[in-house]
Amino acid sequence: MGDSILVINAGSSSIKFKLYGIAGDELAPVFAGQFDGIGSRPRLRVKDKAGRALADQAYPAAEVGSAAAAQTVVADWLKEHLGDARIVAVGHRVVHGGLTYAQPVRVDAAVLATLESFIPLAPLHQLSNLDPIRVLMERRPDLPQVACFDTAFHRGHPERSDRFALPRALYDEGVRRYGFHGLSYEYVSAALHRMAPDLADGRVVICHLGSGASACALRGGRSIETTMGFTALDGLPMGTRSGTLDPGVILHLIEQKGMSAHEVGTMLYRDSGLLGLSGISNDVRELLASTDPRAEMAIDMFCHRVAQAVASLSVSIGGLDALVFTAGIGENAPEIRSRVVAALGWAGLAFDPAANARSATQIDDPRSRAAIYIVPTDEERMIGLHTLRLLQQEGALGAPEPEGHRA
Ligand code: ADP
Repeated sequence: MGDSILVINAGSSSIKFKLYGIAGDELAPVFAGQFDGIGSRPRLRVKDKAGRALADQAYPAAEVGSAAAAQTVVADWLKEHLGDARIVAVGHRVVHGGLTYAQPVRVDAAVLATLESFIPLAPLHQLSNLDPIRVLMERRPDLPQVACFDTAFHRGHPERSDRFALPRALYDEGVRRYGFHGLSYEYVSAALHRMAPDLADGRVVICHLGSGASACALRGGRSIETTMGFTALDGLPMGTRSGTLDPGVILHLIEQKGMSAHEVGTMLYRDSGLLGLSGISNDVRELLASTDPRAEMAIDMFCHRVAQAVASLSVSIGGLDALVFTAGIGENAPEIRSRVVAALGWAGLAFDPAANARSATQIDDPRSRAAIYIVPTDEERMIGLHTLRLLQQEGALGAPEPEGHRA
């Protein structure tokens, strides 16, 4: 099969990986794997490009109790199953590029040190993301590694979207609205551009609704404003995260209820959002299937807040030419999409119920004032493509295609 790119998305409790064969300027998926339940119910699953299982193995929790142990399992599996594939580079998802990186970057020791300096900005994620980079750098110093950031796509925001109304010194220290899900927005925007270039170059709001959820306003294919800010806790309510909150609530929890910062953090990240609202589940499928009024309340509030976000983001781009849904909920839940669009009926948006029900690519009614699309996201592919292009630019693999909307 020949030259290949490995993409790694390492989180605190899971490691996702995908192998792509290089085919000129494109990538051909070979297999995709996920090691999850690290420390609780460790399990490795790998599927080939047709969805056939190549591995599905559970491990005792004591045997794979840490991310490092899971990395070793994944590395061993890869060694055994690469066949004639030769990994020429590894692309990594790294949550934070700070103020320094507005583009993917080839990682060397100095870059790694800079990325480590961003750990306080995203303690849980950044640490897990950097771990495999460090290990690979020690074991395979010759293997090119590329870091791709969730924040990079948002680095060009106007100052008013980048600031909190806080004392200036904090902004200078880096307390800014960085924004996340950038790799997804970049991928979806490029995919929309291939389908409808004029629309994609216009005023677009993309709703990335997965277990993490955010929305982003784009103009000319560039991010102008997004709902997530300093952390991935801001903006929309999510599976277990609160989203935007009156900061006075946090003061109340600490001062009146005597909660520690750690307890508040756990509540905001793990016990809130759809799970906290419903007391039932963080999974939209379960909530939609439930007859419990608390489930309906959670769904109602979620859709309301997504519609509000679309309206307020439209202000940032002076109107709306296209609304795009993506990620687990956005791609698969017609009920959620229909409620969001119905709440935007006053703005002239209307959907075609049949197209929405079958999750067609374009779901607007001909009378709708804005187009409405469903565009599946693929953050791993975006990372793979960035990695490929960076290598091509460095002359490591042959000439790159001219810059433009490719993904
Ligand atoms: P992440 O990559 O952030 O883990 P995903 O984008 O895969 O998340 O989205 C996961 C969420 O998508 C699930 O928690 C679930 O609520 C929702 N989801 C997936 N499939 C469906 C479906 N068919 N109907 C409704 N919601 C769905």
